[in-house]
Amino acid sequence: MALLVVNGFSNSLPTPHTTEPVYDLVIINGRVVDGTGNPWFRASVAVKDGRIARVGHVEPSQAKQVIDARGQIVAPGFIDVHTHVESIYKQPDAENFVRMGVTSLVTGNCGSSATDIKEFLGRIREQPLAVNLATLIAHGSVRSKVMGQGDRTPTPAELQQMEALVEQGMKDGAVGLSTGLIYVPGMYAKTDEIVALARVAARYDGLYATHMRNEGTEVVEAIRESLQIGEQARLPVEISHFKISARKLWGKSDVTLSLVREARKRGLVVTVDQYAYTASSTSLDIRLPDWVLAGGREEGKKRLAVKETRERAVREMKEGLKRTGFKDYDYAVVASYAPNPSFNGKSIKAITKEVKGKSDLDSQIAQILEMYEAGGAGMVYHGMSEDDIKEIMREPFTMIASDSGVRRFNEGMPHPRGYGNNARVLGRYVRELRLLPLEDAVRKMTSLPAQTFNLRDRGLLLEGFAADIVIFDETSVNDRATFEQPHQYPVGISFVLVNGVTVLEDGRMTSARPGVALRRQSMNLALVSHRAQG
Ligand SMILES: [Zn+2]
Repeated sequence: MALLVVNGFSNSLPTPHTTEPVYDLVIINGRVVDGTGNPWFRASVAVKDGRIARVGHVEPSQAKQVIDARGQIVAPGFIDVHTHVESIYKQPDAENFVRMGVTSLVTGNCGSSATDIKEFLGRIREQPLAVNLATLIAHGSVRSKVMGQGDRTPTPAELQQMEALVEQGMKDGAVGLSTGLIYVPGMYAKTDEIVALARVAARYDGLYATHMRNEGTEVVEAIRESLQIGEQARLPVEISHFKISARKLWGKSDVTLSLVREARKRGLVVTVDQYAYTASSTSLDIRLPDWVLAGGREEGKKRLAVKETRERAVREMKEGLKRTGFKDYDYAVVASYAPNPSFNGKSIKAITKEVKGKSDLDSQIAQILEMYEAGGAGMVYHGMSEDDIKEIMREPFTMIASDSGVRRFNEGMPHPRGYGNNARVLGRYVRELRLLPLEDAVRKMTSLPAQTFNLRDRGLLLEGFAADIVIFDETSVNDRATFEQPHQYPVGISFVLVNGVTVLEDGRMTSARPGVALRRQSMNLALVSHRAQG
Protein backbone atom coordinates (compact mmCIF):
# COMPACT_ATOMS: atom_id res chain seq x y z
CA MET A 1 0.00 0.00 0.00
CA ALA A 2 1.42 3.36 -0.97
CA LEU A 3 1.49 6.05 1.66
CA LEU A 4 0.88 9.70 1.32
CA VAL A 5 2.81 12.07 3.53
CA VAL A 6 2.25 15.77 3.44
CA ASN A 7 5.43 17.55 4.46
CA GLY A 8 4.88 20.05 7.23
CA PHE A 9 1.66 18.34 8.38
CA SER A 10 3.17 15.03 9.41
CA ASN A 11 5.21 16.74 12.11
CA SER A 12 4.02 19.70 14.12
CA LEU A 13 7.55 20.75 15.09
CA PRO A 14 9.37 22.73 12.46
CA THR A 15 12.59 21.05 11.38
CA PRO A 16 15.23 23.76 11.36
CA HIS A 17 17.52 22.63 8.53
CA THR A 18 14.95 21.69 5.83
CA THR A 19 15.09 23.83 2.75
CA GLU A 20 12.01 25.23 1.04
CA PRO A 21 10.38 22.43 -1.04
CA VAL A 22 11.04 22.95 -4.75
CA TYR A 23 8.61 20.29 -5.98
CA ASP A 24 4.86 19.99 -5.48
CA LEU A 25 5.08 16.26 -5.04
CA VAL A 26 7.53 13.41 -5.19
CA ILE A 27 6.91 9.68 -5.57
CA ILE A 28 9.68 7.75 -3.83
CA ASN A 29 10.79 4.12 -3.54
CA GLY A 30 8.82 2.89 -6.57
CA ARG A 31 9.95 0.85 -9.53
CA VAL A 32 9.68 3.12 -12.53
CA VAL A 33 8.23 1.62 -15.71
CA ASP A 34 8.58 4.69 -17.86
CA GLY A 35 6.40 3.76 -20.85
CA THR A 36 9.22 3.16 -23.35
CA GLY A 37 9.06 -0.60 -22.90
CA ASN A 38 12.52 -0.61 -21.27
CA PRO A 39 13.02 -2.65 -18.07
CA TRP A 40 12.00 -0.95 -14.83
CA PHE A 41 14.49 1.11 -12.90
CA ARG A 42 14.52 2.74 -9.51
CA ALA A 43 14.02 6.48 -9.27
CA SER A 44 11.98 9.11 -7.58
CA VAL A 45 9.52 11.00 -9.75
CA ALA A 46 9.07 14.66 -8.85
CA VAL A 47 6.22 16.83 -10.08
CA LYS A 48 5.96 20.58 -10.34
CA ASP A 49 3.23 22.70 -11.95
CA GLY A 50 1.56 19.67 -13.50
CA ARG A 51 4.73 18.46 -15.22
CA ILE A 52 7.30 15.82 -14.43
CA ALA A 53 10.14 17.90 -13.09
CA ARG A 54 12.66 15.18 -12.30
CA VAL A 55 13.11 11.43 -12.64
CA GLY A 56 16.08 10.46 -10.50
CA HIS A 57 17.26 11.10 -6.99
CA VAL A 58 15.04 13.48 -5.06
CA GLU A 59 15.12 14.10 -1.32
CA PRO A 60 11.63 13.78 0.18
CA SER A 61 12.17 17.12 1.91
CA GLN A 62 12.42 18.80 -1.49
CA ALA A 63 8.69 18.29 -2.09
CA LYS A 64 5.51 19.52 -0.40
CA GLN A 65 3.95 16.06 -0.67
CA VAL A 66 5.53 12.65 -0.65
CA ILE A 67 3.99 9.43 -1.94
CA ASP A 68 5.84 6.34 -0.77
CA ALA A 69 5.40 3.78 -3.56
CA ARG A 70 7.49 1.07 -1.89
CA GLY A 71 6.91 -2.28 -3.59
CA GLN A 72 4.87 -0.69 -6.35
CA ILE A 73 5.16 0.26 -9.99
CA VAL A 74 5.17 3.91 -11.03
CA ALA A 75 4.10 4.29 -14.66
CA PRO A 76 2.69 6.93 -17.00
CA GLY A 77 -1.09 7.22 -16.75
CA PHE A 78 -2.79 4.95 -19.26
CA ILE A 79 -4.12 6.44 -22.50
CA ASP A 80 -7.31 4.76 -23.68
CA VAL A 81 -7.55 5.54 -27.38
CA HIS A 82 -10.80 3.77 -28.05
CA THR A 83 -13.67 5.09 -25.95
CA HIS A 84 -17.22 6.33 -26.41
CA VAL A 85 -17.52 9.10 -23.85
CA GLU A 86 -19.59 11.69 -25.67
CA SER A 87 -21.62 11.96 -22.44
CA ILE A 88 -18.61 12.43 -20.13
CA TYR A 89 -19.64 15.92 -19.03
CA LYS A 90 -22.55 14.29 -17.20
CA GLN A 91 -20.11 12.06 -15.27
CA PRO A 92 -17.01 14.20 -15.02
CA ASP A 93 -15.24 11.93 -12.51
CA ALA A 94 -15.06 9.10 -15.09
CA GLU A 95 -14.49 6.82 -12.12
CA ASN A 96 -14.45 3.56 -14.07
CA PHE A 97 -11.55 4.87 -16.17
CA VAL A 98 -9.62 6.47 -13.30
CA ARG A 99 -9.79 3.27 -11.27
CA MET A 100 -8.26 1.38 -14.21
CA GLY A 101 -5.35 3.82 -14.18
CA VAL A 102 -6.54 5.70 -17.25
CA THR A 103 -5.69 9.41 -17.38
CA SER A 104 -6.48 10.31 -21.01
CA LEU A 105 -9.34 9.29 -23.27
CA VAL A 106 -9.79 9.48 -27.03
CA THR A 107 -13.45 9.48 -27.98
CA GLY A 108 -15.41 10.01 -31.20
CA ASN A 109 -14.70 6.46 -32.34
CA CYS A 110 -16.64 4.13 -34.64
CA GLY A 111 -18.10 6.89 -36.75
CA SER A 112 -19.91 8.68 -33.94
CA SER A 113 -18.73 11.96 -32.41
CA ALA A 114 -19.73 15.51 -31.64
CA THR A 115 -19.76 17.50 -34.86
CA ASP A 116 -18.87 20.79 -33.19
CA ILE A 117 -15.42 19.85 -31.88
CA LYS A 118 -14.67 23.35 -30.65
CA GLU A 119 -17.74 23.32 -28.43
CA PHE A 120 -17.18 19.71 -27.29
CA LEU A 121 -13.57 20.19 -26.22
CA GLY A 122 -14.14 23.76 -25.03
CA ARG A 123 -16.80 22.72 -22.55
CA ILE A 124 -14.06 21.29 -20.31
CA ARG A 125 -13.34 24.82 -19.10
CA GLU A 126 -16.80 25.27 -17.55
CA GLN A 127 -17.33 21.60 -16.77
CA PRO A 128 -13.94 20.25 -15.74
CA LEU A 129 -13.18 16.54 -15.92
CA ALA A 130 -11.00 14.23 -13.85
CA VAL A 131 -9.22 12.98 -16.98
CA ASN A 132 -7.84 14.45 -20.20
CA LEU A 133 -10.00 14.30 -23.29
CA ALA A 134 -9.25 14.08 -27.01
CA THR A 135 -11.65 13.34 -29.83
CA LEU A 136 -11.85 12.21 -33.41
CA ILE A 137 -14.27 13.76 -35.89
CA ALA A 138 -16.57 10.98 -36.99
CA HIS A 139 -17.70 10.20 -40.50
CA GLY A 140 -21.11 8.83 -39.47
CA SER A 141 -22.03 11.95 -37.51
CA VAL A 142 -20.84 14.26 -40.27
CA ARG A 143 -22.73 12.24 -42.89
CA SER A 144 -25.95 12.22 -40.85
CA LYS A 145 -25.74 15.95 -40.40
CA VAL A 146 -25.34 16.58 -44.12
CA MET A 147 -27.49 13.87 -45.70
CA GLY A 148 -29.45 12.02 -43.01
CA GLN A 149 -29.51 8.26 -42.54
CA GLY A 150 -30.19 7.29 -46.14
CA ASP A 151 -28.66 4.52 -48.20
CA ARG A 152 -27.25 6.56 -51.07
CA THR A 153 -24.11 8.17 -52.41
CA PRO A 154 -23.53 11.84 -51.59
CA THR A 155 -23.88 14.42 -54.34
CA PRO A 156 -20.72 16.43 -55.07
CA ALA A 157 -22.19 19.31 -53.06
CA GLU A 158 -22.93 17.03 -50.09
CA LEU A 159 -19.43 15.58 -50.19
CA GLN A 160 -18.06 19.10 -50.15
CA GLN A 161 -20.13 19.93 -47.10
CA MET A 162 -18.87 16.80 -45.37
CA GLU A 163 -15.28 17.71 -46.22
CA ALA A 164 -15.84 21.18 -44.81
CA LEU A 165 -17.18 19.73 -41.54
CA VAL A 166 -14.20 17.39 -41.22
CA GLU A 167 -11.84 20.27 -41.96
CA GLN A 168 -13.46 22.42 -39.30
CA GLY A 169 -13.29 19.55 -36.82
CA MET A 170 -9.58 19.07 -37.51
CA LYS A 171 -8.93 22.80 -37.17
CA ASP A 172 -10.76 22.75 -33.86
CA GLY A 173 -8.47 20.04 -32.53
CA ALA A 174 -9.77 16.61 -33.56
CA VAL A 175 -6.95 14.07 -33.75
CA GLY A 176 -8.27 12.35 -36.87
CA LEU A 177 -11.24 10.88 -38.70
CA SER A 178 -13.16 7.86 -37.47
CA THR A 179 -15.56 5.56 -39.29
CA GLY A 180 -18.06 2.93 -38.18
CA LEU A 181 -18.75 0.99 -41.36
CA ILE A 182 -21.12 -1.56 -39.84
CA TYR A 183 -23.43 1.14 -38.57
CA VAL A 184 -26.06 3.34 -40.17
CA PRO A 185 -25.10 5.53 -41.99
CA GLY A 186 -21.42 4.58 -42.29
CA MET A 187 -22.32 1.30 -43.99
CA TYR A 188 -23.73 3.22 -46.96
CA ALA A 189 -20.44 4.98 -47.71
CA LYS A 190 -18.28 3.62 -50.50
CA THR A 191 -14.52 3.60 -50.14
CA ASP A 192 -14.09 6.75 -52.30
CA GLU A 193 -16.22 8.83 -49.97
CA ILE A 194 -14.05 7.86 -47.01
CA VAL A 195 -10.84 8.48 -48.93
CA ALA A 196 -12.05 12.00 -49.75
CA LEU A 197 -12.69 12.78 -46.08
CA ALA A 198 -9.51 11.05 -44.92
CA ARG A 199 -7.54 13.29 -47.29
CA VAL A 200 -8.85 16.27 -45.36
CA ALA A 201 -7.78 14.72 -42.04
CA ALA A 202 -4.37 13.95 -43.59
CA ARG A 203 -3.79 17.62 -44.40
CA TYR A 204 -3.99 18.32 -40.67
CA ASP A 205 -1.74 15.45 -39.55
CA GLY A 206 -4.73 13.41 -38.41
CA LEU A 207 -5.04 9.65 -38.52
CA TYR A 208 -7.78 7.38 -39.81
CA ALA A 209 -9.37 5.23 -37.07
CA THR A 210 -11.84 2.67 -38.27
CA HIS A 211 -14.43 0.25 -37.04
CA MET A 212 -14.19 -1.76 -40.21
CA ARG A 213 -16.98 -2.92 -42.48
CA ASN A 214 -16.61 -6.45 -41.20
CA GLU A 215 -14.81 -8.20 -38.36
CA GLY A 216 -16.03 -11.68 -39.16
CA THR A 217 -16.29 -13.64 -42.38
CA GLU A 218 -15.15 -10.71 -44.55
CA VAL A 219 -12.51 -9.34 -42.19
CA VAL A 220 -9.69 -9.76 -44.73
CA GLU A 221 -11.50 -7.61 -47.31
CA ALA A 222 -12.30 -5.08 -44.59
CA ILE A 223 -8.64 -4.80 -43.58
CA ARG A 224 -7.67 -4.37 -47.23
CA GLU A 225 -10.17 -1.51 -47.55
CA SER A 226 -8.76 0.18 -44.43
CA LEU A 227 -5.21 -0.06 -45.75
CA GLN A 228 -6.29 1.19 -49.16
CA ILE A 229 -7.84 4.27 -47.54
CA GLY A 230 -4.58 4.94 -45.69
CA GLU A 231 -2.52 4.50 -48.83
CA GLN A 232 -4.74 6.64 -51.04
CA ALA A 233 -5.31 9.41 -48.53
CA ARG A 234 -1.73 9.19 -47.20
CA LEU A 235 -2.36 9.04 -43.49
CA PRO A 236 -1.78 6.58 -40.64
CA VAL A 237 -4.43 3.90 -40.12
CA GLU A 238 -5.65 2.70 -36.73
CA ILE A 239 -7.84 -0.38 -36.85
CA SER A 240 -10.17 -0.28 -33.87
CA HIS A 241 -10.87 -3.24 -31.59
CA PHE A 242 -8.95 -5.64 -33.84
CA LYS A 243 -10.59 -9.06 -33.62
CA ILE A 244 -11.96 -12.10 -35.36
CA SER A 245 -15.62 -12.45 -34.56
CA ALA A 246 -16.66 -15.32 -36.84
CA ARG A 247 -16.32 -18.73 -35.27
CA LYS A 248 -15.36 -20.15 -38.66
CA LEU A 249 -12.23 -17.98 -38.76
CA TRP A 250 -11.03 -18.58 -35.21
CA GLY A 251 -7.28 -19.02 -35.21
CA LYS A 252 -6.77 -16.84 -38.29
CA SER A 253 -5.45 -13.79 -36.45
CA ASP A 254 -2.01 -14.54 -37.81
CA VAL A 255 -3.40 -14.02 -41.32
CA THR A 256 -5.08 -10.73 -40.43
CA LEU A 257 -2.06 -9.46 -38.50
CA SER A 258 0.14 -10.37 -41.47
CA LEU A 259 -1.86 -8.02 -43.67
CA VAL A 260 -1.01 -5.21 -41.27
CA ARG A 261 2.65 -6.28 -41.03
CA GLU A 262 2.96 -6.29 -44.81
CA ALA A 263 1.40 -2.85 -45.11
CA ARG A 264 3.89 -1.58 -42.55
CA LYS A 265 6.71 -3.10 -44.59
CA ARG A 266 5.44 -1.14 -47.59
CA GLY A 267 5.72 2.01 -45.49
CA LEU A 268 2.17 2.62 -44.34
CA VAL A 269 1.78 3.47 -40.67
CA VAL A 270 -0.81 1.04 -39.34
CA THR A 271 -1.59 0.22 -35.74
CA VAL A 272 -4.42 -1.60 -34.01
CA ASP A 273 -6.10 -1.54 -30.62
CA GLN A 274 -7.69 -4.32 -28.64
CA TYR A 275 -9.68 -5.01 -25.51
CA ALA A 276 -8.76 -8.09 -23.51
CA TYR A 277 -12.00 -10.07 -23.68
CA THR A 278 -13.48 -12.76 -25.90
CA ALA A 279 -16.83 -11.00 -26.12
CA SER A 280 -17.70 -7.82 -27.99
CA SER A 281 -20.37 -5.30 -27.17
CA THR A 282 -22.56 -3.42 -29.60
CA SER A 283 -26.16 -3.05 -30.72
CA LEU A 284 -28.73 -5.71 -31.53
CA ASP A 285 -29.45 -3.85 -34.79
CA ILE A 286 -26.23 -5.03 -36.45
CA ARG A 287 -27.67 -8.56 -36.55
CA LEU A 288 -30.22 -7.34 -39.13
CA PRO A 289 -29.46 -6.98 -42.85
CA ASP A 290 -28.20 -3.51 -43.86
CA TRP A 291 -31.13 -2.81 -46.15
CA VAL A 292 -33.63 -3.29 -43.31
CA LEU A 293 -31.92 -0.60 -41.25
CA ALA A 294 -31.70 2.07 -43.98
CA GLY A 295 -33.28 5.38 -43.01
CA GLY A 296 -33.68 4.53 -39.33
CA ARG A 297 -35.88 2.35 -37.12
CA GLU A 298 -39.28 3.63 -38.33
CA GLU A 299 -38.34 2.81 -41.92
CA GLY A 300 -37.06 -0.58 -40.81
CA LYS A 301 -40.31 -1.36 -38.99
CA LYS A 302 -42.28 -0.54 -42.12
CA ARG A 303 -40.18 -3.01 -44.11
CA LEU A 304 -40.60 -5.73 -41.50
CA ALA A 305 -44.38 -5.19 -41.53
CA VAL A 306 -44.48 -6.53 -45.10
CA LYS A 307 -44.60 -10.32 -45.11
CA GLU A 308 -42.26 -10.83 -48.08
CA THR A 309 -39.56 -8.45 -46.89
CA ARG A 310 -39.74 -9.88 -43.36
CA GLU A 311 -39.24 -13.35 -44.79
CA ARG A 312 -36.30 -12.13 -46.83
CA ALA A 313 -34.76 -10.59 -43.70
CA VAL A 314 -35.19 -13.85 -41.79
CA ARG A 315 -33.63 -15.81 -44.64
CA GLU A 316 -30.61 -13.50 -44.83
CA MET A 317 -30.13 -13.61 -41.07
CA LYS A 318 -30.04 -17.41 -41.17
CA GLU A 319 -27.53 -17.36 -44.01
CA GLY A 320 -25.41 -14.78 -42.20
CA LEU A 321 -25.40 -16.82 -39.01
CA LYS A 322 -24.38 -19.92 -40.92
CA ARG A 323 -21.51 -18.12 -42.62
CA THR A 324 -20.04 -17.04 -39.28
CA GLY A 325 -20.11 -20.60 -37.94
CA PHE A 326 -22.49 -20.06 -35.01
CA LYS A 327 -25.47 -22.43 -34.88
CA ASP A 328 -27.84 -20.07 -33.06
CA TYR A 329 -27.93 -16.88 -30.97
CA ASP A 330 -26.80 -18.42 -27.71
CA TYR A 331 -23.61 -16.31 -28.04
CA ALA A 332 -25.70 -13.10 -28.09
CA VAL A 333 -26.47 -11.80 -24.59
CA VAL A 334 -28.61 -8.75 -23.82
CA ALA A 335 -26.78 -6.01 -21.91
CA SER A 336 -29.58 -3.47 -21.76
CA TYR A 337 -33.12 -3.68 -23.06
CA ALA A 338 -35.22 -0.74 -21.90
CA PRO A 339 -38.70 -2.24 -22.56
CA ASN A 340 -37.93 -5.22 -20.31
CA PRO A 341 -34.82 -4.99 -18.11
CA SER A 342 -35.40 -8.56 -16.90
CA PHE A 343 -33.86 -9.62 -20.24
CA ASN A 344 -30.54 -8.05 -19.21
CA GLY A 345 -27.84 -10.66 -18.79
CA LYS A 346 -29.73 -13.39 -20.69
CA SER A 347 -28.96 -14.80 -24.13
CA ILE A 348 -31.35 -14.38 -27.06
CA LYS A 349 -31.83 -18.13 -26.96
CA ALA A 350 -32.79 -18.11 -23.27
CA ILE A 351 -35.09 -15.11 -23.70
CA THR A 352 -36.81 -16.78 -26.65
CA LYS A 353 -37.39 -19.90 -24.59
CA GLU A 354 -38.80 -17.78 -21.77
CA VAL A 355 -41.08 -15.68 -23.99
CA LYS A 356 -42.17 -18.21 -26.61
CA GLY A 357 -41.75 -21.51 -24.82
CA LYS A 358 -39.43 -22.77 -27.55
CA SER A 359 -36.03 -21.79 -28.85
CA ASP A 360 -35.65 -23.04 -32.44
CA LEU A 361 -33.77 -20.70 -34.75
CA ASP A 362 -36.91 -19.23 -36.36
CA SER A 363 -38.27 -18.31 -32.93
CA GLN A 364 -34.94 -16.72 -31.95
CA ILE A 365 -34.93 -14.60 -35.10
CA ALA A 366 -38.56 -13.61 -34.48
CA GLN A 367 -37.54 -12.54 -30.97
CA ILE A 368 -34.66 -10.44 -32.33
CA LEU A 369 -36.95 -8.71 -34.82
CA GLU A 370 -39.51 -7.97 -32.11
CA MET A 371 -36.84 -6.46 -29.90
CA TYR A 372 -35.54 -4.41 -32.83
CA GLU A 373 -39.06 -3.12 -33.44
CA ALA A 374 -39.45 -2.25 -29.76
CA GLY A 375 -36.40 0.03 -29.86
CA GLY A 376 -33.40 -2.30 -30.02
CA ALA A 377 -31.01 -3.44 -27.32
CA GLY A 378 -27.40 -3.16 -26.19
CA MET A 379 -25.73 -6.54 -26.56
CA VAL A 380 -22.68 -8.56 -25.55
CA TYR A 381 -21.56 -11.08 -28.17
CA HIS A 382 -19.41 -14.00 -27.03
CA GLY A 383 -17.83 -14.46 -30.41
CA MET A 384 -14.02 -14.56 -30.15
CA SER A 385 -11.36 -17.07 -29.25
CA GLU A 386 -8.80 -16.62 -26.49
CA ASP A 387 -5.96 -17.73 -28.78
CA ASP A 388 -6.69 -14.89 -31.18
CA ILE A 389 -6.83 -12.40 -28.30
CA LYS A 390 -3.35 -13.52 -27.21
CA GLU A 391 -1.91 -13.50 -30.72
CA ILE A 392 -3.12 -9.94 -31.27
CA MET A 393 -1.96 -8.76 -27.83
CA ARG A 394 1.61 -9.97 -28.42
CA GLU A 395 1.93 -7.93 -31.60
CA PRO A 396 4.21 -4.89 -31.09
CA PHE A 397 1.80 -2.46 -32.81
CA THR A 398 -1.23 -3.40 -30.69
CA MET A 399 -2.53 -0.92 -28.11
CA ILE A 400 -4.77 -1.70 -25.16
CA ALA A 401 -8.08 0.20 -25.30
CA SER A 402 -11.43 -0.42 -23.63
CA ASP A 403 -14.06 0.54 -26.24
CA SER A 404 -16.06 1.66 -23.20
CA GLY A 405 -18.20 4.59 -22.22
CA VAL A 406 -18.30 6.25 -18.82
CA ARG A 407 -20.18 3.83 -16.59
CA ARG A 408 -22.89 4.54 -14.08
CA PHE A 409 -22.25 2.27 -11.15
CA ASN A 410 -24.81 -0.57 -10.99
CA GLU A 411 -26.69 0.57 -14.10
CA GLY A 412 -27.48 -2.11 -16.70
CA MET A 413 -25.30 -5.10 -17.59
CA PRO A 414 -22.52 -3.49 -19.60
CA HIS A 415 -19.45 -5.21 -20.96
CA PRO A 416 -16.94 -5.60 -18.08
CA ARG A 417 -14.13 -4.05 -20.14
CA GLY A 418 -15.23 -0.59 -18.97
CA TYR A 419 -14.30 -1.56 -15.42
CA GLY A 420 -11.42 -3.95 -15.90
CA ASN A 421 -9.61 -3.74 -19.21
CA ASN A 422 -6.19 -2.35 -18.22
CA ALA A 423 -6.11 -4.20 -14.91
CA ARG A 424 -7.03 -7.43 -16.69
CA VAL A 425 -4.10 -7.12 -19.07
CA LEU A 426 -1.71 -6.47 -16.17
CA GLY A 427 -3.14 -9.20 -13.95
CA ARG A 428 -4.21 -11.96 -16.26
CA TYR A 429 -2.06 -11.61 -19.37
CA VAL A 430 1.13 -10.22 -17.80
CA ARG A 431 1.29 -11.85 -14.36
CA GLU A 432 -0.78 -15.01 -14.61
CA LEU A 433 -0.28 -16.10 -18.24
CA ARG A 434 3.13 -14.43 -18.78
CA LEU A 435 2.05 -13.57 -22.28
CA LEU A 436 4.04 -10.35 -22.36
CA PRO A 437 6.39 -8.46 -20.01
CA LEU A 438 4.94 -5.81 -17.73
CA GLU A 439 7.02 -3.12 -19.42
CA ASP A 440 5.62 -4.01 -22.82
CA ALA A 441 2.03 -4.02 -21.56
CA VAL A 442 2.58 -0.56 -20.09
CA ARG A 443 4.08 0.63 -23.40
CA LYS A 444 0.90 -0.54 -25.16
CA MET A 445 -1.15 1.59 -22.74
CA THR A 446 1.06 4.69 -22.76
CA SER A 447 3.75 5.68 -25.26
CA LEU A 448 2.35 3.73 -28.20
CA PRO A 449 -1.08 5.38 -27.94
CA ALA A 450 0.57 8.78 -27.41
CA GLN A 451 2.78 8.32 -30.48
CA THR A 452 -0.08 7.04 -32.62
CA PHE A 453 -2.53 9.80 -31.71
CA ASN A 454 0.15 12.47 -31.67
CA LEU A 455 -0.28 13.34 -27.99
CA ARG A 456 3.18 14.73 -27.78
CA ASP A 457 3.90 15.30 -24.11
CA ARG A 458 2.09 12.26 -22.69
CA GLY A 459 2.72 8.56 -22.34
CA LEU A 460 6.24 8.66 -20.89
CA LEU A 461 7.69 9.44 -17.47
CA LEU A 462 10.06 11.97 -18.89
CA GLU A 463 11.12 15.32 -17.53
CA GLY A 464 8.98 18.04 -19.09
CA PHE A 465 6.12 15.70 -19.87
CA ALA A 466 2.66 16.10 -18.34
CA ALA A 467 2.49 14.47 -14.91
CA ASP A 468 -0.10 11.81 -15.71
CA ILE A 469 0.95 8.96 -13.43
CA VAL A 470 -0.43 5.67 -12.13
CA ILE A 471 0.89 3.67 -9.18
CA PHE A 472 -0.03 -0.01 -8.90
CA ASP A 473 1.03 -3.24 -7.30
CA GLU A 474 2.14 -5.66 -10.01
CA THR A 475 1.68 -8.60 -7.65
CA SER A 476 -2.01 -7.95 -6.99
CA VAL A 477 -3.38 -5.77 -9.80
CA ASN A 478 -6.37 -7.45 -11.43
CA ASP A 479 -9.84 -6.92 -12.81
CA ARG A 480 -12.90 -8.07 -10.89
CA ALA A 481 -15.67 -7.15 -13.30
CA THR A 482 -17.30 -10.14 -14.98
CA PHE A 483 -20.06 -10.51 -17.54
CA GLU A 484 -22.39 -11.62 -14.74
CA GLN A 485 -21.30 -8.87 -12.31
CA PRO A 486 -19.72 -6.10 -14.35
CA HIS A 487 -19.99 -3.32 -11.78
CA GLN A 488 -16.79 -4.08 -9.90
CA TYR A 489 -13.70 -1.93 -9.83
CA PRO A 490 -10.26 -3.48 -10.27
CA VAL A 491 -7.83 -4.07 -7.40
CA GLY A 492 -4.18 -3.15 -6.98
CA ILE A 493 -4.24 0.37 -8.41
CA SER A 494 -3.67 2.86 -5.61
CA PHE A 495 -2.81 6.29 -6.99
CA VAL A 496 -3.70 8.10 -10.19
CA LEU A 497 -2.43 11.60 -10.96
CA VAL A 498 -3.67 13.74 -13.84
CA ASN A 499 -1.57 16.78 -14.72
CA GLY A 500 0.17 16.44 -11.37
CA VAL A 501 -3.06 16.40 -9.35
CA THR A 502 -4.17 13.30 -7.43
CA VAL A 503 -7.54 11.97 -8.62
CA LEU A 504 -7.19 8.56 -6.97
CA GLU A 505 -5.53 8.69 -3.57
CA ASP A 506 -4.73 5.42 -1.86
CA GLY A 507 -7.73 3.79 -3.55
CA ARG A 508 -10.17 6.65 -2.88
CA MET A 509 -11.48 9.06 -5.49
CA THR A 510 -10.63 12.67 -4.68
CA SER A 511 -13.02 15.16 -6.23
CA ALA A 512 -10.26 16.88 -8.22
CA ARG A 513 -10.90 17.54 -11.89
CA PRO A 514 -7.57 18.48 -13.41
CA GLY A 515 -8.23 17.11 -16.93
CA VAL A 516 -7.51 19.19 -20.00
CA ALA A 517 -8.59 18.98 -23.62
CA LEU A 518 -5.93 17.36 -25.79
CA ARG A 519 -6.13 19.02 -29.17
CA ARG A 520 -4.40 17.89 -32.33
CA GLN A 521 -0.88 19.23 -32.49
CA SER A 522 0.01 20.33 -35.96
CA MET A 523 3.58 19.46 -36.87
CA ASN A 524 3.83 22.71 -38.82
CA LEU A 525 2.55 24.73 -35.89
CA ALA A 526 4.96 22.95 -33.56
CA LEU A 527 7.82 23.86 -35.88
CA VAL A 528 6.72 27.47 -36.07
CA SER A 529 6.46 27.84 -32.31
CA HIS A 530 9.85 26.18 -31.88
CA ARG A 531 11.38 28.66 -34.27
CA ALA A 532 9.60 31.48 -32.55
CA GLN A 533 11.06 30.40 -29.24
CA GLY A 534 14.50 29.67 -30.64
ZN1 LIG B 1 -16.53 0.06 -32.74
